[in-house]
Amino acid sequence: MACIFCRIVSGEVNADIVEETNNFIAFRDVNPVAPTHVLLVPKQHIESPISLQTLGGEALQEMFQLIDKIAKKENIEKSGYRLILNNGKDAGQEINHLHFHIIGGRKMGRLG
Ligand code: AMP
Repeated sequence: MACIFCRIVSGEVNADIVEETNNFIAFRDVNPVAPTHVLLVPKQHIESPISLQTLGGEALQEMFQLIDKIAKKENIEKSGYRLILNNGKDAGQEINHLHFHIIGGRKMGRLG
């Protein structure tokens, strides 16, 4: 299994896990850009945003509840945070397994 995030999901590679649900795992980014930098990853190897819908409505509800739970746990719910999905080359995507970055804990500039 070559995909690093699939290897984290299977437990073959260690990660600093923040939360886990039936369909998602959230762990700290190894190269954080802010005091909170958590990656939210579907356990299923999904590559494109449109494929997220194959998980179904309940899983998507679970995902947004998980984002809210992590924001509260990290104490960034009120101060604010960014939810970023890099998709493709121009967005600078490095890992081909769809993931959201949850970034917060400092004031951020404009995107771009
Ligand atoms: P992206 O550019 O959106 O594909 O982001 C990939 C992110 O995964 C980067 O911020 C990396 O620092 C992070 N990353 C890569 N390998 C690992 C790992 N083994 N554990 C945690 N984060 C990782």
